[in-house]
Amino acid sequence: MKITDLRATTVTVPLEAPLRHANGCHWGRFVRTIVEIETDNGLVGLGEMGGGGESAEAAFRGLRETLLGHDPARLERLRFLIANPTGSLYNNRTQMLAAIEFACLDLLGQHWQTPVSEILGGRLREEVPFASYLFFRYPHAKHGRGEVRTREQLLDCARELKRRCGFHSHKLKGGVFPPDYELELFRALAAEFPEDRVRFDPNGAWSTEEAIRFGQAIEGLNNDYLEDPVFGLHGMRRVREKVKMPLATNTVVVNFEQLAANVPHTAVDVILLDTTFWGGIRPCIKAAGVCETFQLGIAVHSSGELGIQLATMLHLGAVLPNLSFAADAHYHHLTDDIIEGGLMRYRDGKLAVPQGPGLGVKLNRKKLKQYADLYQQLGNYPYDRDPGRPDWIAMTPNQDWADPKDDRIPAIK
Ligand SMILES: [Mg+2]
Repeated sequence: MKITDLRATTVTVPLEAPLRHANGCHWGRFVRTIVEIETDNGLVGLGEMGGGGESAEAAFRGLRETLLGHDPARLERLRFLIANPTGSLYNNRTQMLAAIEFACLDLLGQHWQTPVSEILGGRLREEVPFASYLFFRYPHAKHGRGEVRTREQLLDCARELKRRCGFHSHKLKGGVFPPDYELELFRALAAEFPEDRVRFDPNGAWSTEEAIRFGQAIEGLNNDYLEDPVFGLHGMRRVREKVKMPLATNTVVVNFEQLAANVPHTAVDVILLDTTFWGGIRPCIKAAGVCETFQLGIAVHSSGELGIQLATMLHLGAVLPNLSFAADAHYHHLTDDIIEGGLMRYRDGKLAVPQGPGLGVKLNRKKLKQYADLYQQLGNYPYDRDPGRPDWIAMTPNQDWADPKDDRIPAIK
């Protein structure tokens, strides 16, 4: 099999409401670039990457000549072709490598008529459990619905997600409002579901002392872990010395050098494996093997996804022997998907691993066009800006929190 073409199409797919986080906001939609790699036997493999928009499309187009004639089965050769570790100092292509690896694995699975998870070690589970991933949300700019800011709104949203999807673990994304306010709401969430697990993630926005104070205050809850309370391995280590619960990260252990550094001087207990940040599904499996050896925990991370990326997370989750936590997904905040069959459905808090060959998902060409057109109309949004606070910038540690009483609806096109 030889690669004969590469196409990249940027789409934007609406969310139920804008999702607020410590760095800013997803402004009511996700921007994703869909990669299609065609081979000389007429197959098309699918990949996906977040952010970037037009610049991501251009960057993928720039790799087209390099990839033409390449055998998609030669994945290690591909790794060095695209993201040699010293070459990457100049071009930083790890996330592009991930999208191309997804497409190559999809091609191999289609060619061999077997699901990607069966190529990558074989399935240990047919379904992957997920956490609810609750966000503070602005009201939708057009219809005013979907806000999550108050205690009642948070619990209503959590109850509705539990009813609709059946989650048994509840993650709250914080780092938006003053820590004491978020502490009160997180406690209310844990009290609402006493049988379930909880996890909190302020995206590294706190000072170390604030993180220790918050961590100690939630020690009695049914925590999976506390995720990225501060930014930096040394800060995480200081928090870990004082707080009696596992710490998790998707920010300070995102490559093998950092993972190695975390072994002799442990700062993080649970490594959240992101198929994009780590450069593909296979590096995540390699990292999971290191974690198995050193008895570190793992979970599957979400950096925002449509169905193609979600399929990579499901195939990853299917083959990890040491996966002991529910995965994260932004997916249930989406209103639609670009794959055939529309949005995948949760059952009892789990998603089924696709059964078809390759990644097991197919592009819905009509939807791809619809959301590519919408992207042309709306363009990008600044992930690291808050539409409700145009003068604010995200500092680490942050000391300028959003006002929990501010119920204005930001104007977002
Ligand atoms: Mg996180």
